[in-house]
Amino acid sequence: MNNTNQSSAIQQSENLITIIGAGAAGIGMGVALSDLGLTDYLIVDRHEVGASFLRWPQQMRFISPSFTSNAFGLLDLNAVTYTTSPAYSLQSEHPTGAEYARYLQGVADLYQLPIQTGVDVHKIQPVDGDHQPCAPDRNQGFLLETSQGSIYSHFVIWAAGEFQYPNLEIFPGSEHCLHNATVQDWANVPGDEFVIIGGYESGIDAAVNLINLGKRVKVLDDTAPWDLSSPDPSLVLSTYTMQRLVTAQATGRLELLTAGVESVQTVEGSGYEITLLDEDGTLQAHTRPILATGFIGSLDRIANLLTWHPQSYHALLTAEDESIRTQIKMARYEYRNYRLAQ
Ligand SMILES: Cc1cc2nc3c(=O)[nH]c(=O)nc-3n(C[C@H](O)[C@H](O)[C@H](O)COP(=O)(O)OP(=O)(O)OC[C@H]3O[C@@H](n4cnc5c(N)ncnc54)[C@H](O)[C@@H]3O)c2cc1C
Repeated sequence: MNNTNQSSAIQQSENLITIIGAGAAGIGMGVALSDLGLTDYLIVDRHEVGASFLRWPQQMRFISPSFTSNAFGLLDLNAVTYTTSPAYSLQSEHPTGAEYARYLQGVADLYQLPIQTGVDVHKIQPVDGDHQPCAPDRNQGFLLETSQGSIYSHFVIWAAGEFQYPNLEIFPGSEHCLHNATVQDWANVPGDEFVIIGGYESGIDAAVNLINLGKRVKVLDDTAPWDLSSPDPSLVLSTYTMQRLVTAQATGRLELLTAGVESVQTVEGSGYEITLLDEDGTLQAHTRPILATGFIGSLDRIANLLTWHPQSYHALLTAEDESIRTQIKMARYEYRNYRLAQ
């Protein structure tokens, strides 16, 4: 049974709770609400269930392993509920993005979660009792302006993810580069030699996949993540990535350079010139340099609903993960984001 609706116009609706985002966090939150016996809620997504995962490059796989540890009372690391396991459903230890999206849709179907896809939330307005055309009799809650009409909701759970918006303004000339998040299949990226800027998970994943396709690769990162050591997996490369890195290095076609990038320029007829920080010189690239330098989190879209820490620029939340400014709740599914919020 499938409760996911591709949106026709919502026009105007009212829910106790609206969850924005049908990714891992949104689906997990939906199950939590269902377990609490709540029915008056709606999950909306601008695309489809597991949209972020469906847009991963074809070769990219989960770095966190899945294992059917549920039988021993331990959660599968990649599960979003206590009773499901991607390892069991997908028979894969390191699922691809498409496989994981299938798992999320399976969970949504199992719990018959109320989901409306194709609904892009443009604006969230806290209702204060005054001048609310669609909710004149309300004095609390939120009015959501969406691509399909407006939704009045007493509570809003923000589960819109941290990997939606590639950060394309890192240094002068970064607009000439190719962001790794825009690649659907590494096999379709033309060229035999590549420079990758950024050497954390995304950068090394790109490097390993290009090496597997027989290419030559240089990775630039001034923090040399491949040399770092920590028991906190959010600070260092995962074991899965380190193992693959060793294999890629053995080909002799991968160079890891401890160097930061100051700027990138196009050079008529020959490609790109990469100027390194600290007067370390320049590098030439014949193919578009690949940016693996991260994302702008979706919280920027609701910055006005949050209070930000003055120095470290993270949102200040209550113990219940609610904004200290409004009653919007955050649902996070990622250990790195959790750490950043500490
Ligand atoms: C290179 C890389 C490797 C990774 N490897 C792993 C890994 O091995 N293990 C792991 O646990 N995680 C991994 N992650 C992180 C993983 O992608 C995130 O943990 C996960 O996507 C977070 O889930 P989420 O539900 O918070 O966000 P998402 O899955 O991004 O879901 C957000 C949803 O919100 C929707 N949305 C956004 N804005 C709006 C809006 N305004 N209106 C309506 N809908 C909206 C989107 O369409 C999307 O479906 C990796 C990420 C990257 C980039």
